[in-house]
Amino acid sequence: MFEALSERFDSAWKKLRGQDKISEANIQEALRDVRRALLEADVNLQVVKAFVAEVQAQALGAEVVSGVNPGQQFIKIVNDELTKLMGETNAPLAKAETAPTVILMAGLQGTGKTTATAKLALHLRKESRSAMMVATDVYRPAAVDQLITLGKQIDIPVFDLGTDANPVEIARQGVAKAKEDGIDTVIVDTAGRLQIDPKMMAELAQIKEAVQPDEVLLVVDAMTGQEAANLTRSFHEEIGITGAILTKMDGDSRGGAALSVRQISGQPIKFIGVGEKVEALQPFYPDRMASRILG
Ligand code: GDP
Repeated sequence: MFEALSERFDSAWKKLRGQDKISEANIQEALRDVRRALLEADVNLQVVKAFVAEVQAQALGAEVVSGVNPGQQFIKIVNDELTKLMGETNAPLAKAETAPTVILMAGLQGTGKTTATAKLALHLRKESRSAMMVATDVYRPAAVDQLITLGKQIDIPVFDLGTDANPVEIARQGVAKAKEDGIDTVIVDTAGRLQIDPKMMAELAQIKEAVQPDEVLLVVDAMTGQEAANLTRSFHEEIGITGAILTKMDGDSRGGAALSVRQISGQPIKFIGVGEKVEALQPFYPDRMASRILG
């Protein structure tokens, strides 16, 4: 992934390489390439504008450092700004003072929400934090079964009340059960729709109200680019998210979503999904991602 973006940046660097002075004219040209690279990677326009303006201010104000060529200096500025855009450092998962920590999973159908729920549970167990998963997606019968199957596969308990119960009630009872059983973290999987609709948002808000989560994680499909920006905005405005999980980062993504989520919501990407397998979850590191983008 990110090949196109890296290639674009490459051409910007080539123009700066070999110049012994960083001039306003060659900065402008390199900035145009950076802007084009980001737009081609399907980064949200508003995010691109803010990013380019910041790089420009930094580059024009930069002292020419002896022994460092302007191209390298410019790359460093872009690298630092990309890292900043994605949140500087890895943001850890919340841990409630009194167990259980409650994590609410939100997102559209097909983004990998249910898979991410199981991935997260497994990740927690590896950190010696016991987990329980709660199946509230009663609209898609297969979703409850899917979570139960995943639970069996990784030996993590799943709380469900079938598909006739009210999702808010399932969530409430699931969290109560986790508390009773002395579970460290309870992850509530919720229903996703094909697109954002008022009923879905209202139900999610009710579940949030009922279980008072320590984390609301938006599951975002990295392949969706611009759409990811709109999705993040809607969920953050209507529900309030505390972070995101970017899934399908193993695919042929243009990388736009990774750059938009933080800028739009102010909340960090905490994990990335890098495959269909339940082990395929990694903590998100902004600096590593910036290096990967710059190639
Ligand atoms: P949900 O509707 O949001 O709960 O989505 P699912 O968890 O059912 O996932 C939808 C599809 O995406 C399934 O085929 C998953 O195997 C696949 N999937 C989920 N996460 C990833 C990922 O990180 N990488 C890849 N390649 N596929 C994923």
